Amino acid sequence: MNKIIAFLFLVLGIAASAQDGYWQQDVQYRMAIDFNAEQHTFTGNQVLTYTNNSPDTLHRVFYHLYFNAFQPGSMMDVRSRTIADPDPRIADRINNLQPNEIGFHKIDKLTQDGKKVTFSVEGTVAEVQLAQPLLPGKSTTFEMKFNSQVPIQIRRSGRNNEEGIDYTMTQWYPKLAEYDRDGWHSEPYVSREFHGVFGTFEVEITINSKYTLAGTGVVQNPEEVGHGYAESAPTSEKTTWKFKAENVHDFAWAADPEYTHLNTTLTNGTELHFFHRNDSMINENWSRLVPFTEQLFNIMNDRFGAYPYQQFSVIQGGDGGMEYPMCTMISGTGSFGGLVSVAVHEAIHNWYYGVLASNEQKFPWMDEGFTTYAQNLVLDSLFKRNRLNPHQRSMQSYIGNALSVSEEPLSTGADYYETNRAYGSNAYSKGCVFLVQLSDIVGQETFDRAMISYFNQWKFKHPTPQDFKRVMEKAADMELDWYFDSWIGTTKTIDYGIHTVNSNGKKTTIEIERIGELAMPVELTVKSEKGTEFIYIPLEKMRGAKPAPEWLKDNWKQEADWPWAYPFYKVQLDIPLESIQSIQLNPFEKIADTNPKNNLFPSSNISFPPNE
Ligand SMILES: [Zn+2]
Repeated sequence: MNKIIAFLFLVLGIAASAQDGYWQQDVQYRMAIDFNAEQHTFTGNQVLTYTNNSPDTLHRVFYHLYFNAFQPGSMMDVRSRTIADPDPRIADRINNLQPNEIGFHKIDKLTQDGKKVTFSVEGTVAEVQLAQPLLPGKSTTFEMKFNSQVPIQIRRSGRNNEEGIDYTMTQWYPKLAEYDRDGWHSEPYVSREFHGVFGTFEVEITINSKYTLAGTGVVQNPEEVGHGYAESAPTSEKTTWKFKAENVHDFAWAADPEYTHLNTTLTNGTELHFFHRNDSMINENWSRLVPFTEQLFNIMNDRFGAYPYQQFSVIQGGDGGMEYPMCTMISGTGSFGGLVSVAVHEAIHNWYYGVLASNEQKFPWMDEGFTTYAQNLVLDSLFKRNRLNPHQRSMQSYIGNALSVSEEPLSTGADYYETNRAYGSNAYSKGCVFLVQLSDIVGQETFDRAMISYFNQWKFKHPTPQDFKRVMEKAADMELDWYFDSWIGTTKTIDYGIHTVNSNGKKTTIEIERIGELAMPVELTVKSEKGTEFIYIPLEKMRGAKPAPEWLKDNWKQEADWPWAYPFYKVQLDIPLESIQSIQLNPFEKIADTNPKNNLFPSSNISFPPNE
């Protein structure tokens, strides 16, 4: 090939695969932590090189100081006591913390390129006025000295939790807030969900040698730390653990003197590590968890994109389950089924949260809902259930909430829901149903392909719903704004029903009614003496149609488009009414039809006028 043409191909190829105008900030953290396990305090020296890849000049930056949430009177405390349906795990526990039980971060010194900066702290956020404006394309280095106290564990983070884990160190260091295409995100720590800047973390933790540590990244000095990373055992009173992680947006760790450390390596080379307390029941469940986790990674790599890091750690953190890059903190006790379920859910977050790092505060459903979708499929496969609809529980949970007064739009920010119930149902179930229905709209094979290209195009970035929509639209060659806008931005629901079934001699006419406000493509099966026929009615606004699934090709019939404003649609069948055994709308249950009673014929709910 001519060199100039080859060069043009190269340039055009790059242009076609990049996201127009996309940019994101970059952080390089180097932290040295000196930990005092008697006092539950630590000092930190944090050197942070920050690169401004935005087109804007920055005059200030923000740091999250998450531990400050665990103080009486904090936003988290007041919110957890005043929300309509308080989380019983928190309730008034923060309000009752004593001074030696609270959490805090205190900034002792902060400079920018050696110059002192001024800053103010409000609750869980520090606002820093830069000594020098940070111009587009430039880097600057902040150096911070801080001291912190680890709170009694209330939620996710802290010391001495119910299961007896000494330290679950999550949201544990002053963390730079993200500035992205959407502006600053200096969310105070009220309840849940995070957003961070991608980059590199080099973290050195000096702590009493009796502790085994587990966390984000790869241990750089296994021979010095021992504890299952290497045969050798440390001999000095304190050990310095050196962790390094690249292409991550957070760093978490945990420490306990009684961790049992198991590990295994997948055929593709990914190392899996497991850390749990030494107890006969826990030991048995956790050794059984190892092969399940191996299978989980193999399924996820095949179906949703290849896990890109060298290792992953499943850590008994002792409080529910929570995702962090390259690791998860989960409860260690309870049934084996529960353990697998939570480990699967949290590990999958490394795809939806860790690698595809959508802003969880704004779009909690893009990590919880997408994770729930994959979790339902993985659990179905791990436990060989082969259910027709592995998402049925998510569907039922969504419909239950959609028909209740607590329903709020999916576009609500994570901390801004009126009730914990609405958050839970929306983020997990409505977010999952969003994908189930989308797979039905574009067709399962197209959807599966698009999920992998979404992963590959957006990995190590912050995709928004719009970015996801464009990937799906291009894969399906369809318009999808009607679905994204209504499902995410409104509480409109779906209900189709069989209105009438009429006989016209040798033919039959089915009249379908759109009762719900949200229009969707419609599928129905007609069972007769001739066999089963699948009828598909695309929505006009899709400007396209999904292909017939391979296994249904011979019995598949596509009707004319349905323009959404029409409440009724007629389907003509070349089958006499008396030979029809049944008609069913939404036969695969992939659409969250809020009233399935009117989906069946014959049924007492359907009017069935005699032949006129
Ligand atoms: Zn989750």
